[in-house]
Amino acid sequence: NPGKSKYHPIKDACWKKNQDVPYLALAKTLEVIEATSARLKMVEILSNYFKSVIALTPEDLLPSIYLCLNQLAPAYKSLELGIAETYLMKAVGQCTGRTLAQMKAAAQKCGDLGLVAEQARATQRTMFAPPPLTVKKVITALRDVAAMTGQASVNKKIGKIQSLYVACRHSEARYLIRSLEGKLRVGLAEQSLLQALAQAMAEEDSKSLIDEYALIIKTTYCECPNYDLLVPVLLQHGVRSLPEHCRLTPGLPLKPMLAHPTKGVHEVFNRFDGSVFTCEYKYDGERAQIHVPGDERPDLERAAVYSRNQEDNTTKYPDIIKRLPSLMKETVRSCVLDCEAVAYDTSTKQILPFQVLSTRKRKDATEEQIKVQVCVFVFDLLYLNGRALVREDLEIRRELLRENFNEVEGEWQFAVSRDCTDEEEVAQFLQESVKASCEGLMVKALRGENARYDIARRSHNWLKLKKDYLEGIGDSVDAVVIGAYHGRGKRTGVYGGFLLACYDPTNEQYQSLCKIGTGFTDEDLRTLSDTLKEHVIDGPRNYYMFDSSHAPDAWFSPSCVWEVRCADLSLSPAHRAALGLVHDSKGISLRFPRFIRVRDDKSAELATSAEQIAELYLRQDQVKNTTNNQQRDD
Ligand code: ATP
Repeated sequence: NPGKSKYHPIKDACWKKNQDVPYLALAKTLEVIEATSARLKMVEILSNYFKSVIALTPEDLLPSIYLCLNQLAPAYKSLELGIAETYLMKAVGQCTGRTLAQMKAAAQKCGDLGLVAEQARATQRTMFAPPPLTVKKVITALRDVAAMTGQASVNKKIGKIQSLYVACRHSEARYLIRSLEGKLRVGLAEQSLLQALAQAMAEEDSKSLIDEYALIIKTTYCECPNYDLLVPVLLQHGVRSLPEHCRLTPGLPLKPMLAHPTKGVHEVFNRFDGSVFTCEYKYDGERAQIHVPGDERPDLERAAVYSRNQEDNTTKYPDIIKRLPSLMKETVRSCVLDCEAVAYDTSTKQILPFQVLSTRKRKDATEEQIKVQVCVFVFDLLYLNGRALVREDLEIRRELLRENFNEVEGEWQFAVSRDCTDEEEVAQFLQESVKASCEGLMVKALRGENARYDIARRSHNWLKLKKDYLEGIGDSVDAVVIGAYHGRGKRTGVYGGFLLACYDPTNEQYQSLCKIGTGFTDEDLRTLSDTLKEHVIDGPRNYYMFDSSHAPDAWFSPSCVWEVRCADLSLSPAHRAALGLVHDSKGISLRFPRFIRVRDDKSAELATSAEQIAELYLRQDQVKNTTNNQQRDD
């Protein structure tokens, strides 16, 4: 009973010392977590389970963590499940004597294939009960399934899934099928898991000890986002030795520092309030985290380029890898650089729009295939010659960057920067950046405590000042396409309008944000309709929040993310975005939204969050004034 508050890790566990952890113990834990909405309680439940695993079968801690996060390997290795629903329905249907149509109908009605699979399994008898599943067995089988590729693998996958499914007891089937779908839906964020780990490792029930451990575990995980490395150290040497053993290392992509939007030059000065900052051009390309491992010398064979989401983009950019020697001076033995790769016209020496970059081949590009050249604009240095620099001031990082690296025109350039001191100067520099085909400025704290590199944080120490802040809300929104409406008139045959949503990570929901039909060319509508057809599902997922008056003609799985702009944000009785954050019964919607571009580099879960929508809404001058007036009236 992992939910019990006076939990005893050994007496209350349902398995014995040195036995493999039964998958049922994990499934029961997830079940209790799923039924809980309070984050602290969730953390406690999970930490109880972890405590038992650590006390009885420590080698099962690592697979348990991966199963809780629904990951098979470190995120950057992109070993993913996400098996198509139809295959899972077939697998479960064949085992339980149901046709595909019956399975579809049941899933549609219940909105959760995991629950359907659990109910179907409960009513099914097996002649010879297969041995119970263990955490080890399940993770190994899931990795096998993910590794099977090619057309011929479908039947093999189904076979493997069925052998697991028939061994399931109770809620095991629910979580197995959801894991295979790629979505666990228990509402457990990674930060909560790290907190639970800290709580489980704490030798006594002391808040200060747990806080200390949580801070160590969370910061170490940011620098070294790899449980394969972290967990063995944790078990062998304890929490306090993590920073010494698991450090920022070239080859391990870190979550990048992100910026906060601002609504104008004035806000920049308010935010920084007297502290020293610098402005840099904000280039419109693709983030590239460049890693060069090395000992005595840089090891170019192992150099890699990672995306904003820690995906390995090395084979997309063989040209960048090839030119690394010209960038590094002789003093460099290893490094990690934060950069933006931007499409570039080498003959006119001009930056090209992002749209041009997006035509580049995404993987395994040979040099001959590369038609779009890129110039890499380097804006930060996070690691140099064995030393992590993330805790140093930006001023120092920038100095080291300029000392140890070369600029090569059209290939490697340092982000153009200016340390502005008054509003006029910032406004002037913003104009210059726009003339130079940039999106605006990034404004960054240069010196002092705020000038560190905040890994994985959307920090107030980096502000983005976009050129269109005057006409809009200061920033665009990245929304998930969850539905579409058939086009009429000129748009017959393609989708003519779409239903967009933001993502709420706390409740793991997609919440409707607006309908959109503007900003598309005819060609856009054709290609977008084609892409979306691959993601059609039978009906809305039960984690889609929308009003029935907006029900679209076609529903999609949460896959495609689009960047959109709007005139402003307003409270809406029908849309569900950020419901409860600003108003108890009203959501927020985008007014006059228009399509800007597809965001291939963002998964649905990285779309603009409900919280960000609430923040954008509240920052609007109109809203601010109204709230201020109301406060005055009160
Ligand atoms: P976010 O990543 O903040 O969710 P986004 O992907 O839409 O949003 P932007 O809001 O446009 O990105 O701004 C941040 C991005 O700007 C960075 O991830 C980086 O790719 C890019 N960028 C361009 N120039 C710079 C610079 N000088 N410093 C930092 N980032 C820069």
